[in-house]
Amino acid sequence: MDSLQNGTFNISHETTKEDFNLLLQALDASISGIILTDNRLPDNPIIYCNKAFETISGYDRSEIIGHNCRFLQKEDRDQKERQLLREAIKNGENCIVDIRNYRKDGTLFYNELYMSPIKDESGKVGYFIGVQNDVTLRKKAELDLRQQQDVMEKRIVERTKSLKESEDYLASIVQTVRESLIVLDPEFKVLSVNDHFLKTFKVTIEDTQGKLLYDLGNGQWNIAALKELLESILPTNNPVEEFEVEHDFPHIGKKLMVLNAHRIELEGQYKDRILIAIEDITDRREIERRKDDFLSIASHELKTPLTTIKGLVQVMQRMVPPEVSDKFKAILDKTGMYIDRLNNLIAELLDVSRIQTGNIELHKDSFDFDKAVHEAVEAIQAATKSHNIQITGTSNEKVLADESHIVQVINNLLSNAIKYAPDHKEVIVYISRVSNYVKFSVKDQGMGIKQEDHKKIFDRFYRVGEIQQRFPGMGIGLYICDQIIKNHGGTLWVESEPGKGSTFSFTLPLNKPQPDGN
Ligand code: ADP
Repeated sequence: MDSLQNGTFNISHETTKEDFNLLLQALDASISGIILTDNRLPDNPIIYCNKAFETISGYDRSEIIGHNCRFLQKEDRDQKERQLLREAIKNGENCIVDIRNYRKDGTLFYNELYMSPIKDESGKVGYFIGVQNDVTLRKKAELDLRQQQDVMEKRIVERTKSLKESEDYLASIVQTVRESLIVLDPEFKVLSVNDHFLKTFKVTIEDTQGKLLYDLGNGQWNIAALKELLESILPTNNPVEEFEVEHDFPHIGKKLMVLNAHRIELEGQYKDRILIAIEDITDRREIERRKDDFLSIASHELKTPLTTIKGLVQVMQRMVPPEVSDKFKAILDKTGMYIDRLNNLIAELLDVSRIQTGNIELHKDSFDFDKAVHEAVEAIQAATKSHNIQITGTSNEKVLADESHIVQVINNLLSNAIKYAPDHKEVIVYISRVSNYVKFSVKDQGMGIKQEDHKKIFDRFYRVGEIQQRFPGMGIGLYICDQIIKNHGGTLWVESEPGKGSTFSFTLPLNKPQPDGN
């Protein structure tokens, strides 16, 4: 193996030409590129390459032989693998590297290069054999994987950052809200409280953090009913809503607090925590009380002179001389009518204040429910030409209730059905007996009510926004009805959709033993 001839070797005296050709054919059949370099010549030139090496590199054998391998790196010299190769050649050692090489046409390919020294009997390195494989696809897959990993890592960093930001953001909200907030662990130990809590209850972090909720202050939250509700939050996910606590608190005295509690979870951070928001409603309740007092006094004060006026008008109506004009009589009648209307409004306001002070008196008596409904409907029908009220069904029951109050409820629901359905004249009343209740429903085909208002319309002075100007009213009728029905042990509710009409229903217990004896 001493000299080169057209990129092949001279035949030594020990091998036959056939053997040698066979060897060369075998090397050319390999899919790995194979080169031999002569380490004894200056710059360790390539003295042999097989066909696969030509294919991989894109160079012709004549352009390869005699060159140092570095031409394959073109200008891309700054590769640490080159240093590894140099070291291995210098030390006469094996070496395997993945190195960036370039084909003749300039395209990059990754070369998995295995270099191995060929030593003579004395151990001196004469040649190197290089076996090369194009691993571009594998390398690309590796690079893609690394790139994906980098992207993932970047995303994780960003996500962590945004989580941290949202946590900081939440923390800043928690610190600025004007409600006292407590976060509890599942064992009801205080994990944190906000500044507003500390200020409101005049306590320090040390007084609260790590303590059991029920041991705070002088045991103000240690209320059996509250405990039961709080303990069901995590298992059922049901929040505690508007739980009122009136208590003589340490440092701040007697206060009325309202509590709302929810289960909270911050994805990837924590779960199963309870957030309690506490609002001091002492002042608000006091203002409401004064407003109610004012209403009660004002309506009482208005009622007295109005009763006198009504009496006087009635006297005038009786004393009208025959020669008085019809116009005068009509004016007098209208005055009487408006006085009645005013009287009704004041009576409603008085009802509200009576309910507020718990002074609503029920005079319960047994009466025929169906008959009462029929009479109430007839009275309303007589006063309205615009609508047609139909009654369907019967209960055939007597109820033990305050008839005048129940009639007041029926009147109110019927008046609303007429008032809020000005363009639809059909109003249907259903009567039935359901289990040991009588059930009354009134269905109109009017404007309907949005779901979010279904509960609110039973609050006093609540009127659905858009109707304020179109329809007269004070927003207290349904509140009174609801209270009356509740006081009788029944329920009042609405089923309605905007534009599809409303059905208001109430039930009243029959005060009879149930068939199963309960
Ligand atoms: P008022 O009629 O004086 O406003 P109510 O307490 O009787 O007071 O009713 C409260 C509100 O409920 C009304 O303002 C109206 O917005 C809504 N409402 C009551 N009845 C009906 C009905 N039949 N159809 C649509 N809306 C109704």
